Amino acid sequence: MEPLFTAIELEQVKAYHAPIYTAAAVDLVLWPLVLIAATRFLTRPFHRLATRWGSRVKVPVLDRVWRGDDWAATVIFALLFFGFFAALTVPIDVWFGFVREHEFGLSRESFGAFLLGGLKQQAIMVLSVSALAFGLFGIARRTTRWWWLVGLAASLVLVVSTALDPYRARLYVDQTSLPEGPLRARLTTMLEGAAIPFGDVLVVHSGEKSVRVQAAFAGTGPTRTILLTDTLLETMTEPEIVAAVAHEAGHVSESRWPGRVLTPLAVFGLLGFVEWLFRRSSKRGWFGITARGDVRVLPILVLSFDLVTSLITPLSAALSRERESAADRFALQLTHDPASLTSLLVKLGRINKVDPDPPRWYVLSGVSHPTILQRVAAIQKNATPPPTSPVKAGTVEQQEPGVTR
Ligand SMILES: [Zn+2]
Repeated sequence: MEPLFTAIELEQVKAYHAPIYTAAAVDLVLWPLVLIAATRFLTRPFHRLATRWGSRVKVPVLDRVWRGDDWAATVIFALLFFGFFAALTVPIDVWFGFVREHEFGLSRESFGAFLLGGLKQQAIMVLSVSALAFGLFGIARRTTRWWWLVGLAASLVLVVSTALDPYRARLYVDQTSLPEGPLRARLTTMLEGAAIPFGDVLVVHSGEKSVRVQAAFAGTGPTRTILLTDTLLETMTEPEIVAAVAHEAGHVSESRWPGRVLTPLAVFGLLGFVEWLFRRSSKRGWFGITARGDVRVLPILVLSFDLVTSLITPLSAALSRERESAADRFALQLTHDPASLTSLLVKLGRINKVDPDPPRWYVLSGVSHPTILQRVAAIQKNATPPPTSPVKAGTVEQQEPGVTR
């Protein structure tokens, strides 16, 4: 195999990644400290401000629903807290998300479009934070059994949310159905052969924003959708696109139990912890809290959530890397075309400027995929010749009816 990058390209890829690693290292150490400082020094002033502003908002209906008139102060406090961090990270987001992406030729987005995307995200943040603050602190002050009610609701929302994934993405990028033709026919035959039902194959028109290529499955059951970026269709050959979809198909056949069991457990664990915080804080009078369901526990909650996430991320990333390797093996079984899977990964690495050997600590701290070199090496090791004479990837599906999920 020819090297992934020429010396000059490699230098550029390394230059692109260096500040990303620095930021990740700083983030790992600094972010918890920023959260601790914010919790310690901002909770009281933000709450005073929220109470003053909230007292001016009068909506009698909501007073009745909430059983009190401090719902506005609660929502404003949550918005101040999350808004503070959003404002803090704006310059960093612009530099990493826009300036450098353009500098290294990865983004094609105008600054206006970038700004609009950011504003959309902020609007969604404001809506969800307001709804969450109103709902969570509103129900918690009514009943001590709130947390299993919310837990059930949240577990349901999580299930529905997975099914809605394909639609949520449309908020940001246009998607159109892949026209009938040889590629679509080939993908359909392959997935039918592997007994993987799906709703549609969509082209994601991300090319006007980014040169990056990507293939993904979104949704589940009848809403399962195959997403292929227009950049992928432009830059890859048909067998390479087939290899990409075969890899994604490998993710479909993964065992779902960890997600289905651990996610609700994590949700209930978190909510149980919130209830404990409510009791503890009112008993001890933290930040002047006198009753259960006070929004001033929010910073402690966010801090705890951040610390737990930092502990879990390396584990879930290790599991994810394991699953990526399995999906590569699944793709090989499905297509018997190691050459196309290899060239897909190599081209993807070049286009997306993927670091061929990222620092070990960075990978361990939370990278979801094995490196491209590791994947290519594994493909070469696992590539078994097809049982009959060499087959072209396009005809393999008919000849391999034995592939099971
Ligand atoms: Zn994958």
